[in-house]
Amino acid sequence: MSDLDLATVRDHLAAWYHTRRRRLPWRELPTPYRVWVSEVMLQQTQVATVIPYFERFVAALPTVQDLAAAPEEEVLGLWAGLGYYRRCRHLHAAARQVVAEHAGELPSTASELLSLPGVGRYTAGAIASIAFGRAEPLLDGNVIRVLSRLVALEQPVDVAAGRRTLWTLAGELLDSEDPSSHNQALMELGALVCAPRSPSCQLCPVQSCCAGQAAGAPERFPLKKGPRRRPKPALAVAGLVRDRAGRLLMTRRPPDVLLGGLWELPGGDLDVRAGRRAGLAEHLNTRLGLEGEVGPHLASVEHVFTHRHLTLEVYAVSAVGGASGADTMSWYTDARWLEEDGFAAIPLSRLTEKVLTALGYRDAS
Ligand code: SF4
Repeated sequence: MSDLDLATVRDHLAAWYHTRRRRLPWRELPTPYRVWVSEVMLQQTQVATVIPYFERFVAALPTVQDLAAAPEEEVLGLWAGLGYYRRCRHLHAAARQVVAEHAGELPSTASELLSLPGVGRYTAGAIASIAFGRAEPLLDGNVIRVLSRLVALEQPVDVAAGRRTLWTLAGELLDSEDPSSHNQALMELGALVCAPRSPSCQLCPVQSCCAGQAAGAPERFPLKKGPRRRPKPALAVAGLVRDRAGRLLMTRRPPDVLLGGLWELPGGDLDVRAGRRAGLAEHLNTRLGLEGEVGPHLASVEHVFTHRHLTLEVYAVSAVGGASGADTMSWYTDARWLEEDGFAAIPLSRLTEKVLTALGYRDAS
């Protein structure tokens, strides 16, 4: 895979870890349960923050059986303040699964551990290697940084191919004699020496083997593909249509489209090649059989759907003729003329709520 001197890295790393490792509560008594709880807590949370939570948690619930039997309020109460409560719910559910399906003994292989709620490839590798001494590699943010610098990896690590390369390298480098210390050493090196911005290469036990450092710019690694550039917002146009009595026209979307069944101001992704006003007038005519005079621009409303960024331009429209009943309607499934207090009776999308707020028909909240 690379010219990395695997045996030298392994040996230097092991010697360094045995003299420099931090004393952490889960390392002092590394039972499978304690390792598991600590690894779940350490996902997305700093070591210093985790320590008091870990100590309180394992003092109150010292075994997997205690955790499985505890009411959810108690478990969430012990977790309160640590954040990412989904981790806690998964841990609790997994404890119940361990008691129900594994007689209260945490499985020792990564493949069995992966069947537990909230246990991904990293956590499974950590528990299997650290608690059971199994030869399983692991990759967390620290290990990704160290390994990608050691080999000056020119692949982005936030895409599948880069991850595969790193998992393979982690497996090749693994010390099968002592996978527990080896994996912890890699994580510890990333946490204490091979820092993201300014690695302390002069203090690093594997400096002589490090291609990133030899290239003179270890901070360049790991490479990231980076966030995709947000596409230009799509344009949509809608009309605030009033009749002669001052009532407002609302239209209902068909059930099988995005925001199906919800009510909105008439409009959408219109053909605006002849101009927005002309496109809107054409839309009102063809979809609702309505003749309208399109007047001033009233508002621009930005909205982000899961995969789409939209700018909705809203124009005032005076209805001057035609109808908006079922006989003249296409695409829309219903249309109503509403008094200004009539919006409460119909379901609106978040986008329409935003538009009505921007136009002063709703209080901003
Ligand atoms: Fe990281 Fe520097 Fe050590 Fe390379 S030599 S692993 S860049 S600390």
